Amino acid sequence: MTRTFQRPIKRIVVKLGSSQIADSKMRPRTLQLSALCRQISQLYKKGVEVVLVSSGAIALGMGELGETKRSTELAQLQARAAIGQAALMRLYSELFRKVRLKCGQVLLTWDDFDNRTRFLNARHTLEAILKKGVVPVINENDTTSTEEIKFGDNDKLSALVASLLHADLLVILSDVEGLYDADKKVYEEVREITAEIEGVAGGTKNTHMARGGMRAKIDAIKIATHARISCVITAGNIKDVLVRLVKGERIGTYFIEKKEKLLDGDSEHEFIRSHFKNSKGR
Ligand code: GLU
Repeated sequence: MTRTFQRPIKRIVVKLGSSQIADSKMRPRTLQLSALCRQISQLYKKGVEVVLVSSGAIALGMGELGETKRSTELAQLQARAAIGQAALMRLYSELFRKVRLKCGQVLLTWDDFDNRTRFLNARHTLEAILKKGVVPVINENDTTSTEEIKFGDNDKLSALVASLLHADLLVILSDVEGLYDADKKVYEEVREITAEIEGVAGGTKNTHMARGGMRAKIDAIKIATHARISCVITAGNIKDVLVRLVKGERIGTYFIEKKEKLLDGDSEHEFIRSHFKNSKGR
C-alpha cells in the first residue's frame, strides 16, 4: 500500500545534515550527493520543485584544512564554515551541472525570519530562483549567525524555509532510517508529537558533525506540521529515496501535517517569528 499525501507534492524542501555531506574524515560524500542531484533532476522533469537546505560547510571547511577534530571556539567554527561553504557550492554546482541543472546559494540568518521586510525579500528571491528552474541551496549565514552551529545543524532552518515557501513536504535526510520507538522499530506514521515521541527522540552522539540529533528534528517537525507541511525523516543513503518518497513509498517516518487553517499574511509571519523567538536562549 502506498502513502497518501494530504495534497499533490509539487514543492519539497530537502534538508541534508553535515553527516550527509561529509564522511568522518571530512571528505565530501560525492557518490551519495551525485545520486541525490540525479534524483532532483528527475523530480524537476516531473514538475516537482526541490529546495535544498544543506549543512556541511563546517565539515568541508575542516576537510579543506586537513582537520578531523571540531574546535569548540565559535569564531574558529565560523571560519571553517566560510572556507567550507565555497567548497560546498563548488561541489553542488559541479554535480548539478552533470544532470543539466543549475543551483544558487542563499545564506539566511535568523533575523531574516524576524524582520518582515527581510522575510518577504527572502521569499521573493527564492520564488524567482525557482521560477528559473534553478535549485536553491540554503544554509545559515554562519559568519554572522551562530544559532545552527550551537544546536540544530539546520533542522529548524529547514522547517522555517518550508513554511516560508509553503512547501508540500519537508524531507529530513540523515543517517538513521526514521524515528525509532523504544523497541528499535521505525515509526511509520506519526499524527501527534506526544510525550512518548519526545521521549524516544534523544540527543546526538556524533559530536564532530551533527548538532542536535533527533531532538532538534522533532522540534523542527513541530513547526512544519503546524504550518501544514507534512514531514518525513529518513536515511539519505537509501537508493532513489526522494523519487520513491514522492511516489508514495512508505519509507522512513511520516509526520502528518496539522489540520488547522493555513495562516496568511501577517499572521503567517507572526507564526514563523514566534518560533524564531522561542528558539532564542534555548
Ligand atoms: N551551518 C552549519 C554548516 O553548514 C551548521 C552545521 C554545524 O554546526 O556543523 O556547517
